[in-house]
Parts: sequence; structure tokens; C-alpha cells
Amino acid sequence: MHVIILGGGVVGVTSAYYLARAGHQVTVLERQPGAGLETSFANAGQVSPGYAAPWAAPGIPIKALKWLMMRHRPLVLWPRLEPRLYAWLTRMLANCTEEAYQRNKGRMVRLAEYSRDALRDLRAETGIAYDHREKGTLQLFRTRKQLDHVGDDTRVLDAYGVPYTVLDPAGCIAAEPALAAVRDVFVGGLRLPGDETGDAHLFTQRLAALCEGLGVTFHYGTAIARLHHAGDRVTAVETADGGLLRADAYVAALGSYTPALLRPLGIALPVYPVKGYSLTLPITDAAAAPVSTVMDETYKVAITRLGDRIRVGGTAELAGFSSALRLPRRETLARSVQDLFPAGGDLDRASFWTGLRPMTPDGTPIVGGTRVGNLFTNTGHGTLGWTMACGSGRLLADLVSGRPPEIGRDDLALDRYAA
Ligand SMILES: Cc1cc2nc3c(=O)[nH]c(=O)nc-3n(C[C@H](O)[C@H](O)[C@H](O)COP(=O)(O)OP(=O)(O)OC[C@H]3O[C@@H](n4cnc5c(N)ncnc54)[C@H](O)[C@@H]3O)c2cc1C
Repeated sequence: MHVIILGGGVVGVTSAYYLARAGHQVTVLERQPGAGLETSFANAGQVSPGYAAPWAAPGIPIKALKWLMMRHRPLVLWPRLEPRLYAWLTRMLANCTEEAYQRNKGRMVRLAEYSRDALRDLRAETGIAYDHREKGTLQLFRTRKQLDHVGDDTRVLDAYGVPYTVLDPAGCIAAEPALAAVRDVFVGGLRLPGDETGDAHLFTQRLAALCEGLGVTFHYGTAIARLHHAGDRVTAVETADGGLLRADAYVAALGSYTPALLRPLGIALPVYPVKGYSLTLPITDAAAAPVSTVMDETYKVAITRLGDRIRVGGTAELAGFSSALRLPRRETLARSVQDLFPAGGDLDRASFWTGLRPMTPDGTPIVGGTRVGNLFTNTGHGTLGWTMACGSGRLLADLVSGRPPEIGRDDLALDRYAA
């Protein structure tokens, strides 16, 4: 079967890999000059099934109001006259019940754990290297109140069988020795040893090269204008220069831009762009840098070691498709890394970046078929697209191939919203 994948981010490229491995002829269309140059470019680098949880959780509406008031706020809402934003927010708030949280969390953990295992298999199969480490995640608490509430998190981890350790300051320093220099800043932490880290962009580029070795064709610099369809079939992809490309099946993996492409086909995808920012600093003193990922719970900022760099990522900004680099967000990221790893890297030589997380209101991506018979989606991965990419790609390849998937998939496709 010939399959065209729309979008060459980490999700599109992992889809291409598993489809090629399943024996299909695969073509990837991507508007950028290479793979993984939009949201997959400079994310926080966490492969974190331990943190696979929806943002929509009980208590979030109240917490969100508090976050909006903070100087270094993790959440920013730009008042906009945009009905799609308010429709999305309404659906997200509807998911803030205990029942919805448990349902959504269960789906996300299932896919994220499958994905981490798929990534390990892929590494063993290909030998791919991407500045990765398997050293877990440390969520760091600056206040006693945060530490006192750790039971809320560990109950959920217990329920899903995710290994963890609650640490006192000495335990945090044993896991992340550079924290010894700032031992007054924090009171404890929660360590998730099963998590991994790595550079999603490096991974995507190297996997794209491996895909080419498997016969996958990449058309870079190719903007997709629209899909042509007849009855319940997509018949062609029209590119911005008017060219038409045809295949037997099509996979929409355009991140936050997927809904606009599918809307003319009568398919409403509840995916909204949630903007985030990152800083990447060269390491100046390896002993003063993080070993793995440290999550600064106060600012909701993740600080990750990626080879000879420190990546600092965070902020959820609801601002449509704006790609403006806003300096207050930079200050928050800088503040967090300066507090925790003051001598680790050189902030004066940091690069500042922004990307749009393709978020669904229930936090779970949308992987599976649509009511258009030969059109599939693999999008909506939100905060965890790097974590879930391999599992989503492998699941998608099984669905396109008509093979029984290795995990439950009924509640991962778009039709869960109809229910
Ligand atoms: C600050 C930040 C930190 C994050 N940290 C983490 C983390 O630590 N761990 C984690 O798991 N996830 C993290 N994420 C989320 C993760 O980066 C995303 O979920 C993931 O990159 C989404 O991948 P994607 O392939 O779906 O989208 P993208 O990478 O955006 O890929 C979509 C592709 O489609 C292309 N495209 C779009 N429209 C068109 C068109 N019309 N024609 C042709 N091509 C088109 C784009 O150029 C793009 O390359 C973070 C995100 C941000 C912003």
C-alpha cells in the first residue's frame, strides 16, 4: 500500500518508520526544509511516562486562576475573540472531574508506557543516538506545602504501577549532585526512575535518515494546501504549488495545523495550539549541570541535560498561532535554571525558542481512523508528543495495515468525542 504522511515532525517521522517497517511504500510531505523543525525542534527533552497525565484535573480551575496571577506564571491566557479557544477551554474544563481525569490518565499512561518500550526497541533495532539518557526524572519541591501534597501524585503512581521514590534534600542531591550548591532552595523531591531524556529534534532527523534507507521518500519544502476527496475517500493531496499527489491511505500528522486541513472534509478535531518556550544553554561546568531532568514544581519548568547543553522548557500560553518570542517567558525560564543550576551553563549564549503544543481537551492524542475511509490521524499529543511518538507511530502502522494493535485503541481515535 502507498501511504502519504502529512507532516514531518516527530510524530510523522515515527509513523513513517513503522509503516515502512510494515512493508508499505511511504511518502512524507513537510513544508520545512528538514524533519522536526517546528514543535519537535526544542522541547524539554523528557520521555516521561511517569508524568503522563492530562492537564485537565480536579482542582485545576482554581490552580489556574492562581497561576495567572504569578509574576513568573506557568499559564498565560491572552484575551482573544476566538470562538475555537473558548469551545476548547469549555471542553477542557468539562474534563476536570475525578472520573474524567482517571479515564484520561489511564489512556495516556497506556500509550506512554507502550511508547517508552517501543522507543527502547527502536534503539535496539537501529542503534540510533540522540543525546539520550536513562536516568529518570526528579520533580523538585521548593515549599513544604508542595512536599505535603506529594501523596496526591504517589496515589496515582501507585494505581498505575509507576515506580517512584519520595526524597529528602540529601536524596535529591544524591540523584542530582549539582543541587548541593543550592540546598536551601528546595525541601524534597519525587523521583521517577523509569523516565528517559533525549533530543527530539536529533532523534527525528536521524530517524528520517534511517527511513530514507528503508525507501521512504521525503518531500521537504512542500506546503500542503488541501485534500481532495470523493465520497468517503481522500483522492489526492494538493500542494501549495498546485501539484497533486495520490496514495491509497493518508495520515494527518500536522500537529496544531491538522484541524484546519481536515475541517473542509467535515472532520472537527478538537486540537488547540498551546504555546511553550525553551532556552538552550551550552554547559560550562558539567559537574554543576543536571544529570537528567529536574522539574521545578513552582514554575512548572523542566531542566534537562542534553549532551553538552541544558534545555529549559515550560509555560502554557493560550495565544492562537502566534510565534512571538515574549521576553517575560524567557525571564521565567532563566530564573528557574539560575536558581537551581547557577553555574551549569551560560545564559548569555542561550537560544530562545517557542513551539505550539497540539493539545486536545482530554490530554490524549487522536490516533486512528476517521469517517473518511482512507484518512487516519496521528496528532493532538500536547505536552507529551516526544514521549508518545514511537507508541503512536507503531499503533498507527498496525491500524493502517489492518493488524491487531498491541494495546487497546478504541478510546484513542476521534470517535471518542462523538461518544
Ligand atoms: C516548550 C515545550 C516543551 C515540551 N516538552 C516536551 C517534553 O519534554 N516531552 C514530550 O514528550 N513532549 C514535549 N513537548 C511536546 C512535543 O514537543 C510535541 O507534542 C511534539 O513535538 C508534537 O509533534 P508533532 O509531530 O505532532 O508536531 P510538529 O513537530 O509540529 O510536526 C508537525 C509538522 O507538520 C508540518 N506542517 C504543518 N502544516 C503543514 C502544511 N500545511 N504543509 C506541510 N507541512 C506542514 C510542520 O512543519 C511540522 O514539521 C513540548 C512542547 C513544547 C512547546
